[in-house]
Amino acid sequence: MSTHTANAAATHNESMFEAVLARLDIAAKLMNLSDDVSLILRNPLKQVKVSLPVMMDNGKIQVFEGYRVVHSVAIGPSKGGIRYAMDVNQDEVMALAAWMSFKCAVANLPYGGAKGGIKCDPRAMSVGELERLTRAYAKSMKDVFGVNKDIPAPDMGTSGREMAWILDEYNKMMGEDLPGVITGKPIAIGGSLGRDAATGRGVMVNTMAALKRMGKKPGEVTAVVQGFGNVGSHSARLLSEQGVKIVGIGDHTASFYNEKGIDIKAALDFVAKNNRVLKGFKGATEIASDDLLTSKCDVLVPAALQNVITEDVASKIQAKLVVEGANGPTMPEADHIFKERNIIVVPDILANSGGVTVSYFEWVQNKAGYYWSEDEVNTKHDEKMELAFANVWNNAEQFKTTMRIAAYITALQKIEQGVKLKGHY
Ligand code: GLU
Repeated sequence: MSTHTANAAATHNESMFEAVLARLDIAAKLMNLSDDVSLILRNPLKQVKVSLPVMMDNGKIQVFEGYRVVHSVAIGPSKGGIRYAMDVNQDEVMALAAWMSFKCAVANLPYGGAKGGIKCDPRAMSVGELERLTRAYAKSMKDVFGVNKDIPAPDMGTSGREMAWILDEYNKMMGEDLPGVITGKPIAIGGSLGRDAATGRGVMVNTMAALKRMGKKPGEVTAVVQGFGNVGSHSARLLSEQGVKIVGIGDHTASFYNEKGIDIKAALDFVAKNNRVLKGFKGATEIASDDLLTSKCDVLVPAALQNVITEDVASKIQAKLVVEGANGPTMPEADHIFKERNIIVVPDILANSGGVTVSYFEWVQNKAGYYWSEDEVNTKHDEKMELAFANVWNNAEQFKTTMRIAAYITALQKIEQGVKLKGHY
């Protein structure tokens, strides 16, 4: 294996970036990826770490760690969200940035990959503190972000609200309105219809495509969705609208199971009035959160955190299809268990690429200054997603491998061309 600077970050036990490289290596070998391209992709192009002093409501300064990693710009400007969470660190942001490069390539978007994050607990901060922190972060990224350079978006712990603050701060620095510098914005300031539900929509389209190839009808299957934030709640809603019976749901506060099916509309209404959490929901039996992933169902959608599917969990999962709404929910050592047990896994870089796909549409609309209807967005999204699924499925057959490795191969085939065509020093 060639030397790479990433080793420095990979010394701690469960390096997420190492998890990316482990899959990259398998795909690279199967498809015969050039060593030069592999070496380039092992080293993120740019890694920025900033300290952000922010005045808290109690009158004291707190200094937060902020990150932005640009992994690759081989096939276009870098694209990827900004995450607010306590476990944000350099290694995680590197992994998430690399996944964005692969995700954009799989979805056939003209983008490279990046990711950002701030180590903070947004639930424990006031709106004013969050605004000051977000503006400080945006200011520190003046030379990183750019409409044709690096385009952030929401991720865990952020939403349209933070995107609006970042856009405002960026516009003030540049002295002009540049809505295309960020996506996932509220509709009133240049957001796209359909963006909010897009990641869940992608999960739904991927699930439908996989079921079709498995010879199953949506009305015949049950599903469990882990996570009830943006991705999980829209996934559950859209799957149930297709006729799938959702038997299990859960978030960080509580998990529920009902073999007769859960009324997702009732769950959505409940969280809307209950501080956006499921704790206290009465439409199903509360179960231990540890049991949700392994409870009885045909389709499992992990749409919460990374690294939740260990080898042990994978060996107990009852679903025949896993559609990864979250980024990195499966640990690399669990991949072989799914393979041995013939469980089809639609991997994160394909399954959750609906969000960045509609981000791309938002960016296109911002550049054109002309806005599409929701139907237009959804139709274009579904077409792109079905094509991406078919490409990965075909590569899985051609290379006789899992959908995860096939998704990496699909991405690497494209990125390799970009690297080679543009050349190097
Ligand atoms: N954060 C989302 C992801 O992981 C969306 C990124 C984007 O829209 O740029 O795919």
